[in-house]
Amino acid sequence: MRQTIKQKSLPLNRDKWAKIVQTAEAYARQKDAFLVKYGHVKYLHHLSAKRKLRDELVAVGFTSPFGLQARQWKLALDDALFTLERQWEAAVVEVKERLYRHEGLSDEEKHYAFWLLYRDKKHGRDWERFQAIFTNEDMVNEEINLDTEGRARVRKYLQRTFRRILGKRPRVKKACSFVVDQQMYRVFTAGKRQYIAVATLTPGERVVIPLTGMHAMQGNLRVVLLPDEQAVEVHLNREPRIHPSGGEEAGIDLGVTEVFTDDAGKKYRPEYGEALQEMSDHILDKSRKRGKLWALRRKFLEQDPNKAWRILRRNLGLIKQTKRNKRYRSRCENEINRAFNELYKERRPRVIAYENLAHLRGKAKSKGLSRKVSGWQRNIIKERREYKNYIYSVTDPGPQNAAYSSQECPQCGWVDARNRNGDIFKCRQCGFTADADQVAAMNLKKRLHDEEITRYTPYKKVKAILLQRYYLKQAN
Ligand SMILES: [Zn+2]
Repeated sequence: MRQTIKQKSLPLNRDKWAKIVQTAEAYARQKDAFLVKYGHVKYLHHLSAKRKLRDELVAVGFTSPFGLQARQWKLALDDALFTLERQWEAAVVEVKERLYRHEGLSDEEKHYAFWLLYRDKKHGRDWERFQAIFTNEDMVNEEINLDTEGRARVRKYLQRTFRRILGKRPRVKKACSFVVDQQMYRVFTAGKRQYIAVATLTPGERVVIPLTGMHAMQGNLRVVLLPDEQAVEVHLNREPRIHPSGGEEAGIDLGVTEVFTDDAGKKYRPEYGEALQEMSDHILDKSRKRGKLWALRRKFLEQDPNKAWRILRRNLGLIKQTKRNKRYRSRCENEINRAFNELYKERRPRVIAYENLAHLRGKAKSKGLSRKVSGWQRNIIKERREYKNYIYSVTDPGPQNAAYSSQECPQCGWVDARNRNGDIFKCRQCGFTADADQVAAMNLKKRLHDEEITRYTPYKKVKAILLQRYYLKQAN
């Protein structure tokens, strides 16, 4: 996993901006041409030897028809091949899912299919073997006990499934960015400002870009265009610093008011609730208004087509909406990010217990959050948790069974819906009192070591187990 550091520039003057745009456009057209050409399955084997393809192009004297310098088209080629690889790999994940579920294939047939899709953890994918799916070359090894016909059938099935999943091939529609390697830029400081001088289409020429903030830069960078501000953002990918794992176990209960509450009772980022609500309200409000406008447009469509067109252009345009949404989204993302930072830094955990995020939907519903928002929230939390686990060397135990986690008393074990009253937990048997979310986090943490209650234990069975334990404890 890599980390992207973004560094923005000051607005550029017209001349510099024009040169940057020109470079980005040529780069985009070249990348697009490579995508179209090498997107064909007959070139699939090149994905395991990207460098070789580049050398072959150099050997035949390739020059960019869009005016890129040699280093620039090589980067555009790499960029295109990585885009293709990502698309294929994403499709493989999806195809494997379908294979698991597919009941019409025998075990032997599935085995052969998985063998064709196999990817070695250390050496990566064998793209030549993968390519055989599409070229119908009959690749096989001694482990495969399937006759020729069966193998052909499996390949046909895979071809069909990939075609369905891949859909449209990736293209570059808009010139948004270009990549530069270490030889194509120079970083320097003057006064208190950092500058980057970037190569353009003209050999020897560099555009000097004043930056905001300071970062050490090396290796390949991506220059991303920000047309609204006539500025750029320099994206630097680097391997993040990995911290050794701590010794503690922690539990978190995800919320919609704060990002989460831990088993010690700390509420992480109480500012989150307001940001989330604002985003949700905005989206709900917008979609309601848009619904009304669409109805209005339909009404005018026959009477006054020009007016209908104006409504479409001025009020139903997507651009403004997306920009506003982005602002709300990044505010929530920031809060989530900060919450995880605080948790990992303060607790130094070895493992973190968490619930299956599907439960968030219940909490969100009670606050009237839009469905879109809660889905978004689930994804971003999952992504952040995985990334922070990686950086802080924390093991992921998988989600814990959250059944009755907010009704079970962490002290005596009594389970009762009435133990919880809004935000307060008070045990009806022993009187143990704590914040309700903290109790949930404590119980999730306890379930890390529960051998009877796994994430697959049915809801009702969990209650039976818990109560049985309670009575057993009372009897002793
Ligand atoms: Zn109790």
